[in-house]
Amino acid sequence: MPTPELSVVVPVYNEEANLEPLFARLSKVLDQLGRPWEIIFTNDGSRDRSFELLQGFHRQRPQQVRVIDFNGNYGQHTAIIAAFERARGEIIITLDADLQNPPEEIPKLLAKIDEGCDAVGGVRAQREDSFARKYLSRLINLVRERTTDIRMTDQGCMLRAYRRRVVDAIVRSGERATFIPALAYKFASRNGEVEVAHAARAAGESKYSYYKLVRLNFDLITGFTLVPLQWFTLLAMACASGSFLLVLVLAYMRIFLKDNTNGVFTLFAILFFLVSVCMICIGLIGEYVGRTYQCVQQRPRYVVREVLEEKG
Ligand code: UDP
Ligand code: MG
Repeated sequence: MPTPELSVVVPVYNEEANLEPLFARLSKVLDQLGRPWEIIFTNDGSRDRSFELLQGFHRQRPQQVRVIDFNGNYGQHTAIIAAFERARGEIIITLDADLQNPPEEIPKLLAKIDEGCDAVGGVRAQREDSFARKYLSRLINLVRERTTDIRMTDQGCMLRAYRRRVVDAIVRSGERATFIPALAYKFASRNGEVEVAHAARAAGESKYSYYKLVRLNFDLITGFTLVPLQWFTLLAMACASGSFLLVLVLAYMRIFLKDNTNGVFTLFAILFFLVSVCMICIGLIGEYVGRTYQCVQQRPRYVVREVLEEKG
């Protein structure tokens, strides 16, 4: 069996109903490409029959299907990193397991890679998600545009292709709690985008609650910029000058105009405002400190229970 030229990476978390159609469609597309390929599934602590199905795929095509089985749930991006560490191909493609990213779009990504790009992102032309999800993405997009130097049309689309050197750089970075498309954007010398189709989730439900989504997007922002911290420093400076002025005004009113009607309430209002700004600020610093703490602990990013693969 020749070394694969193409590695397709699929994170799997409770996707039993999608895996069979996914594997059928994906392997059909890959067989037609005429390039040697492998698929690496990472089972991210599924509690349903997903792992048994993956074992079955490995038995069917032991040379081409590899399965990494985590001992628990570490999240989509960590699952992808684990597969990146083991991928053998010159080109590495990521794909969701829920059939929202049609495997039939892979040739489009490859064409763009062959044009000389080393990271290609899919852009979902017609996104099939709930209104709230789309709205949240737009908001994050805006924050990302303003605070980082990462420029991409659709950060949430995980149908992407990378050249080996980009993936190697991601693995070497050793980052945890990270956002892979943004990291790849940083490490690539030529980024490209192609429009791809998007389908509604074939079966099962989204693995991202709003809480997990917010956490993921904090990873994106805190991982790539310190601008939010700097904004708060600026805001703190503005508040400090504003309250200093206010002290002067209140003192003037009290001493010279002998006027102190409603003074206490005004002060309370200002105080509440400042306290809430402080709370947000402390929370934000906490996000950065927490991430720094995790890095200092140097725990493994994930623990593998077992890897199914053919040596060679
Ligand atoms: N996923 C994972 N671990 C998680 C959450 C998700 O491996 O903790 C996988 C999931 O099985 C799917 C992909 O990541 O293949 C995208 O997840 P999902 O479709 O739920 O996200 P959405 O499309 O709703 O953003
Ligand atoms: Mg999905």
